[in-house]
Amino acid sequence: MGNEGKIVIVGGVPGVGKTTVINNALEHTKAEGMKITTIIFGTVMMEIASELFNVQDRDNLRKLPENKQKLIQKEAGLRIAERSWGRMSIVDTHFTIKTKTGVYLQGIPSWVSNALKPKLLVLIETNPEDISKRRSYDDSRLRDKENIYHLKEHQEVNRTSAITICQKTGALLVIIKNKQGHADKAGENLFKYLKSL
Ligand code: ATP
Ligand code: MG
Repeated sequence: MGNEGKIVIVGGVPGVGKTTVINNALEHTKAEGMKITTIIFGTVMMEIASELFNVQDRDNLRKLPENKQKLIQKEAGLRIAERSWGRMSIVDTHFTIKTKTGVYLQGIPSWVSNALKPKLLVLIETNPEDISKRRSYDDSRLRDKENIYHLKEHQEVNRTSAITICQKTGALLVIIKNKQGHADKAGENLFKYLKSL
């Protein structure tokens, strides 16, 4: 059994600009009278992490042991599937999470993708140099400092993760480049794909 709504999963490495691009796209969808709910996967995970493990800061989630992250992730997937039932929803998330031991954790494991049944996956990317810059000037969050090589690797791993989800669910995949200073353009691009669903 899967979700009957239209779920769009938007992913990309931390700091690439997912939330910014989604918000820009939502200005267009509002203007067109489209009803779309946005659910931030990390926010739902935080709800659960604070209930179960007393975690208070979102950027500390990825520092929990992998087994705890998986448990929280599974419960979050189920809650999101329930909340988005029958609606058009954007899930703002990460295709992979780099944990504190340096391993990659699948962001949307099969038990989550089976519950969500996404129609479209959107991978937001840009140059590693710009991601590094964005992480350093955004004081609102505590993102890890990663070198260019690792950011590049993380983006490559995300592509593989996204295509694996497409193979399992039949979802389509689009890659949107969020160029420095052009988040509005990336938002317009995302809007175009949302409208086509
Ligand atoms: P996270 O996964 O950690 O939630 P995110 O991908 O949602 O990160 P944002 O919070 O949207 O990232 O953006 C990170 C920072 O980069 C913010 O300061 C934002 O204003 C800036 N930013 C986003 N897009 C661009 C862009 N195209 N050009 C310049 N700065 C940008
Ligand atoms: Mg975000």
